Amino acid sequence: MSEGHRVIPILASSFERRKAARPDPSASLRGQSLGPVQDKLGRPITDLRISVIDQCNLRCGYCMPKEVFTKDYQFLPREALLSFEEIEQLVKAFIPLGIRKLRITGGEPLLRKSVEDLIARLAQLKTPQNLPLEVALTTNGLLLEQKASALKAAGLQRVTVSLDALDTHLFRELAGVDTGEPKQVLAGIAAARALGLETKVNMVVQKGVNDHQVLPMAKAFRDMGDTLRFIEFMDVGNANQWRLDQVVSAGEILHRLESEFEFEPVDRAKKHDVAERFIYKDRPVEFGVIASITRPFCSDCSRARISSEGLLYTCLFANNGTDLRAVLRSSSSQDELSAIVRGIWGLREDRYSELRQSSADRLDRQPAKVEMSYIGG
Ligand code: SF4
Repeated sequence: MSEGHRVIPILASSFERRKAARPDPSASLRGQSLGPVQDKLGRPITDLRISVIDQCNLRCGYCMPKEVFTKDYQFLPREALLSFEEIEQLVKAFIPLGIRKLRITGGEPLLRKSVEDLIARLAQLKTPQNLPLEVALTTNGLLLEQKASALKAAGLQRVTVSLDALDTHLFRELAGVDTGEPKQVLAGIAAARALGLETKVNMVVQKGVNDHQVLPMAKAFRDMGDTLRFIEFMDVGNANQWRLDQVVSAGEILHRLESEFEFEPVDRAKKHDVAERFIYKDRPVEFGVIASITRPFCSDCSRARISSEGLLYTCLFANNGTDLRAVLRSSSSQDELSAIVRGIWGLREDRYSELRQSSADRLDRQPAKVEMSYIGG
């Protein structure tokens, strides 16, 4: 990979390396309105994904390839990360705008020391209707067995676990590590489920790499009663050398599943859910497909993302963010912060996946984009 392809965050450790717009808090309250905000395409902001760390204990090729994220790679220094107090302030500023669901991401969020303390803070927060926010977490599951109890006690409601293979050899190859086993991940999922956490499993399917694991994974999680979601391999970031011919379409995945199981579609629980849901006919277990490439869902996209150093991204495929940490660390009020986010969301017109689909040419001209490990996917 050439240096020119390395965008956020694959460069030196200076804060200036990322393209971060710095909003002017003093101008933010002018013309401010109240209540939920919508973007230029009429989409609300309901979900906030917050990365709490840019490091991970795996080196999955589509997220943190080991050739790029070497042992000399400079991750963010501790003082660059948002503190738990800052994250809480940020979430409070988002709540009046319409946020109802929080997802803690990384890197690997369970590597952030005492992440359960953050979850405990966030689980206390309420919407303007005095309802609790939904608090979820995405993890690779390796540390989940030992952390599940503390996470549940802190108020976590849901956990999504990434797992791309059940075969140990393939698991390590995909994860770019010499140790670690799928059974550790499965133990984490079982521990979370036993504690009453709602569990889902995400599998990124790559043609010729792990697509032969689709049926074994489906069978295993069907037997365990966990919802498995098959995700089309996406062109997030630039480090993963994505190619269209590596995508196994959702249609093809469903076709393979039909060879083994009988199932039927289920209505999406919420309008803004990204997964198309199905249920097996002979047992009450669901699975899903997330077809970001072949059936993009930008028109319902209501997610904002915050990097671990406090940059706001309005699309998974963005190439720049807005530096909210600078606002947090200035003397700005929560209302000013809210007004800044309102202004940014109000101008949003992102629909990368729809445009990708409508322009084959675009697939060959991959623009610089933020890396998935930086904003948590
Ligand atoms: S491409 Fe951007 S706008 Fe479209 S669904 Fe993904 S994150 Fe949302």
